[in-house]
Amino acid sequence: MSQYCEKNGVRLLSVAPRLFSPEAEAWFTTRVGGVSTGAFSSLNLSTRHDDAPENVEKNFLLACEAMGLDSRDLIFAQQKHTAECALVTARDVHRGRFIAGAVPGVDALITSEIGPVLTVRTADCVPVFLSDRRHGAIAAIHSGWRGTLHAITLRTLERMRSEFGTEGIDVCAAVGPCICADCFEVDPPVADEFIAAYGMKRLVRTGPKYHIDLAGHVLDQLTGFGVPETQIEAERICTAHHTDLYFSHRAEHGYTGGMCGFIRRLR
Ligand SMILES: [Zn+2]
Repeated sequence: MSQYCEKNGVRLLSVAPRLFSPEAEAWFTTRVGGVSTGAFSSLNLSTRHDDAPENVEKNFLLACEAMGLDSRDLIFAQQKHTAECALVTARDVHRGRFIAGAVPGVDALITSEIGPVLTVRTADCVPVFLSDRRHGAIAAIHSGWRGTLHAITLRTLERMRSEFGTEGIDVCAAVGPCICADCFEVDPPVADEFIAAYGMKRLVRTGPKYHIDLAGHVLDQLTGFGVPETQIEAERICTAHHTDLYFSHRAEHGYTGGMCGFIRRLR
């Protein structure tokens, strides 16, 4: 079970220690405990809108302090809704001021090193953490609807297999808070792309609209690769249903802040 914890007022979701400890540790931030105000209140870790950059930097420092991380160890992906992943090393840390130093052209990061902290930023999209306990590799994945459609989680696992020999049985996975199928209503053009790829799987039609279970698709990708269900923790906490605790792009009409997930290898 993932559990909420609070340090210095910063509320965090400590992700699936049952699965990740002691080889790795992972967290997901909530919106509680930062310095931002208004739509970004308060632990905003997104630079997408016009929250003051100094507020976002301060929030990153507060979150890192609460997790016991050195902010200079963070690595970011650019996150442009691709299905690409990058293998990163200690050479990739502290490339610039937080998100400004993101690895370009990718939405997923993989490392086999102890030291780098991989991050994933979301506000409805699906954050996914992977840990291959056998080969000592971790990954952080941003699976928005496009990334989910193009199976970024499966592609990241396949990359881990080619790099390290990762098999499903070696992997523990956590699927973080994200928008639920009830809240993720889409128009036919988006639904049509999913139908072309997956049929009516994880899709419900309601009148002229459709609802897609993005986290369900991610679970299918994990189990499709062979990750045992007992080694997967799916939070199934809806960001749009819980705007008291999470930022939601959809529920807050596109003008809101964002959370960040963090994972690092410990040994
Ligand atoms: Zn919901």
